[in-house]
Amino acid sequence: MLLVIFGLHMAPQNRSWGLWLALVLQFAVYPQVAFWLANRATDTLHAEVRHMWLDALSLGGWIAMLHFPLWISFAAATGAMQNLTLYRGVRGWMEALVLLLLGCGVVGWATAWTLQPQTDALVTVLSIIALSLYLFSVSLDSQRRSVRLRAVRQELRGKEHALQQQLAQIQSLQAELRDQARRDALTGLFNRRHLGDLMAHELARCARDGQPLSLLMIDIDHFKRINDTYGHQVGDDVLRETARLLGERARASDLLFRYGGEEFLLVLLPADAGVAKEVAEELRQRYAASPLTTGSNPAMATLSIGISTFADHGVTFVSLIEAADQALYRAKRAGRNRVEVA
Ligand code: GH3
Ligand code: MG
Ligand code: MG
Repeated sequence: MLLVIFGLHMAPQNRSWGLWLALVLQFAVYPQVAFWLANRATDTLHAEVRHMWLDALSLGGWIAMLHFPLWISFAAATGAMQNLTLYRGVRGWMEALVLLLLGCGVVGWATAWTLQPQTDALVTVLSIIALSLYLFSVSLDSQRRSVRLRAVRQELRGKEHALQQQLAQIQSLQAELRDQARRDALTGLFNRRHLGDLMAHELARCARDGQPLSLLMIDIDHFKRINDTYGHQVGDDVLRETARLLGERARASDLLFRYGGEEFLLVLLPADAGVAKEVAEELRQRYAASPLTTGSNPAMATLSIGISTFADHGVTFVSLIEAADQALYRAKRAGRNRVEVA
């Protein structure tokens, strides 16, 4: 459009063929070359900005060369400044202004600053249309960009949400895994591995608060016979039922572990040896009276229990376990189905 506008404006002015050639080179040939170069450039944006600088400089020159036609100058200068502002902000606008003035200055100086601001009606209308089309294309482009940006943002938000859900899932699986590592698969009770960590913590708390803590080392009497009589499967059922019965008696603050094959450890918090003995007696009696399997010929068993108390029988976990073990051994020696305190 600038080629047509400039041509129409120059037509009645009797300009040299050299200027006509320059016009064709500038507005018909150069844009194709610039486009080709920009497409081939590794840094496309930089190449385009370079071309925009050149546009501003050359348009300044053409404005002076045509003796400053008002509407044409306005349309061309606005385009050049707008383009650079779009890519480089205020800095780009100022660069365009400087280059336009430079182009004007050099050519204006060479052509003795001739001033002919009027344009005929057709050129004026075409200049206004060209400028309008240019502004329309710029607006359309930025509208499309913001629509695309919004879509990308929405997509990102969706992905972030999915990611967060996955993370929550992973965290809950990790927690589940951690819990599984602490628990015995057969009975669901805490296992021995978890015992050390927990006891170190609980003993430190008891020492600080001056509270007693009791360990009940509980062993099923003649459990081997149950396995031998009913089979290993029923043995497992008995272990599960034992865990359930012990858990039933335990308070929320107590800790119940599967210590070994048919050995359980109940930690009473807080409880001195007297309280622990009462609890152990009740457990023993109730257990002895409880059928451990269903059916017409249920398995029955008894418990031997050894008790040790912090700080009466030891202050470390190891010494307390040892004391409870020895008490349990005495209960076994004395005929089983008994409670012994260290
Ligand atoms: P005591 O009265 O002296 O404690 O005799 P006991 O037979 O209970 O003790 P012993 O230590 O001789 O035998 C324990 C048995 O427990 C041997 C082992 O096969 C069995 N056992 C250990 N873990 C499991 C298990 O997970 N399932 C089953 N079914 N049996 C188990
Ligand atoms: Mg046993
Ligand atoms: Mg045993």
